[in-house]
Amino acid sequence: FEPTEATSCVQVVVRVRPMNDKEQKGNTLPVVTASTEKKEVTVIRGAGNRQQRTTYNFDDVLTSFSTQQEVFDTTIAPNILDVLEGFECTMFAYGQTGTGKTHTMEGDLSSENNRGVIPRAAHAIFERLKTEQYVESSVSASYLEIYNEELADLLVDDGKDVKLQICEDTRPRGKGIFVHNLSETIVTSAEDVLRLMQKAQERRRVGETKMNKQSSRSHCLFTLKVHSRKKVDDSGSIMECTGKLHLVDLAGSECAKTAGSENAQKERERKNINQSLLTLGRVISALREGHVQRIPYRDSKLTRLLQESLGGKCKTVIIATISPSVLAVDETLSTLNYAQAAHGI
Ligand code: ADP
Ligand code: MG
Repeated sequence: FEPTEATSCVQVVVRVRPMNDKEQKGNTLPVVTASTEKKEVTVIRGAGNRQQRTTYNFDDVLTSFSTQQEVFDTTIAPNILDVLEGFECTMFAYGQTGTGKTHTMEGDLSSENNRGVIPRAAHAIFERLKTEQYVESSVSASYLEIYNEELADLLVDDGKDVKLQICEDTRPRGKGIFVHNLSETIVTSAEDVLRLMQKAQERRRVGETKMNKQSSRSHCLFTLKVHSRKKVDDSGSIMECTGKLHLVDLAGSECAKTAGSENAQKERERKNINQSLLTLGRVISALREGHVQRIPYRDSKLTRLLQESLGGKCKTVIIATISPSVLAVDETLSTLNYAQAAHGI
């Protein structure tokens, strides 16, 4: 296996979800057309003479007919081998609340066909590690939430009470950037990962009701760390490496916009989300354009945390999710413009 030398280390993908019941009720036609073949999305705005069509091109486009398997295959699947070779890969889901970020990343954990990228990636990693060349391996998972620039562990019951902190170990061969106090759970199968995610979902539900907070306002970062030793030839030489896969479900992009009237808590949430999504966009476009010297990683917790995983030999995928409905057209254009900026022209 040769690590894929992609033309760019950043891949930008758009996924259009099907119309939901509410959108179908109005009996309106979709205002978004998408073509996987042409890798193109068109948005129609207004009617008659004043109709405006805007067409965007991306690395890949997934339509309302694309299956969860197709989504996995076009996004992170090719990078699974890179992770096993010791690389770091990251995938972000960006978009308005309700457009399918969680569906894309987690999906329906209880139904095999509808599982999202995280369980599929775990499955692919364990299948690969079962092959004969691997003499030893260990996989661990961590899952954290960033809300108002504060971190919480989603894999422990008292996660809200443990103070998590981003630290940097600069010694040669040191740990680099890591989160102090974040739990790492050893997983030995894809089913282990499913169970962890189910418990984490439960914890988030409870936390939301208790603290009156919406999940759409936080970023969730799931990480699999894969350490392995494998035979490289018949002489018995062993190659040892550690790779990481980060899968991120971002806060709803609409939460970054100004609201008509908002209380102090909402205002603080909005500013934090705005800052982190803008910084992420800047980091990605800087990487894409090769301006590696002045990347503003430190401007948000999310990018600071992922600093070592964004850039260099790392692979990054951003999937922007949109609704096809006229009701969401302003947010759709805003999401596509963000994705376009990440994609570069
Ligand atoms: P987000 O995380 O962006 O807020 P969700 O993933 O929760 O959005 O999706 C909102 C609703 O739409 C959910 O009920 C989800 O199952 C459904 N949905 C999203 N994308 C798709 C899709 N591609 N196919 C079918 N249902 C979808
Ligand atoms: Mg969600």
